[in-house]
Amino acid sequence: MAVTAKTAGFTTFRGRVACTCLAQWLPEFEAAAQRLGLITGELDITQLTGDADASGGTHERGGAFDIWETIQKLVELAIEMGAAAWIRTRAQGFKPHTHGVLNGCPHNAPARYQVAAYLAGFNGLGKGGRGRRETAQPRTLRTWREGIAWARAQHGTTPTTEEDDMTPDQDAMLRRLDERMLKLMKPVEETHGLVRGVAKAIPTIQRWIGYLMPAAQRQEESLTVLRAQLAAAAATADPSVKADLERLAADLDAVIERA
Ligand SMILES: [Zn+2]
Ligand SMILES: [Zn+2]
Repeated sequence: MAVTAKTAGFTTFRGRVACTCLAQWLPEFEAAAQRLGLITGELDITQLTGDADASGGTHERGGAFDIWETIQKLVELAIEMGAAAWIRTRAQGFKPHTHGVLNGCPHNAPARYQVAAYLAGFNGLGKGGRGRRETAQPRTLRTWREGIAWARAQHGTTPTTEEDDMTPDQDAMLRRLDERMLKLMKPVEETHGLVRGVAKAIPTIQRWIGYLMPAAQRQEESLTVLRAQLAAAAATADPSVKADLERLAADLDAVIERA
């Protein structure tokens, strides 16, 4: 039976059916990629759970993702964060994209052989994913959960820190936000208040500021960018913060209406 958003262990991410692992992992991956300057906006996702012919069934369940970006450092980041990932090329018969499979995802049965192939040093294509050897040595891979923890640690985020204790890093981020916002008009100042509200509402503050900052910086272009980021954040947030995010989103809607 085809997987839908109602299938146990599945949900949607930006309108696409995805397993709950991917729905948690992708925003963290995206935020880490943005912090590293590898991408400026959202990931250009082309397939999560799906049945594209070229994918040979590996996307039929969870854990597998395709993005249009073909950036070696982005692939390396995905691997550090617990995905067996490769750039798929025209020479291999693909429209170029990056394909990845989360390690430790219980929903990725049709693609799990590719994780095994990666660990054994192969490229994930061909029979058993072992069509071409990439390295003679066996490789290691974090689980996707360990990958999220690793990415947060790289960023200096300790998810369990007190929410109200701003680190110098956080202060600096909010100051940059301040300077930026000072130049903007009243509706945007209100938005700034909302961003601070989000920061206060959420224990893992840096993660979310990192997530919201790119949107806030583009406010001159559109308030709706921040609204979309809030919706995406709410979609994957813990139940404890979801209500706060939704309240803030409603406030932002009111600001947008007056803008
Ligand atoms: Zn794929
Ligand atoms: Zn999963």
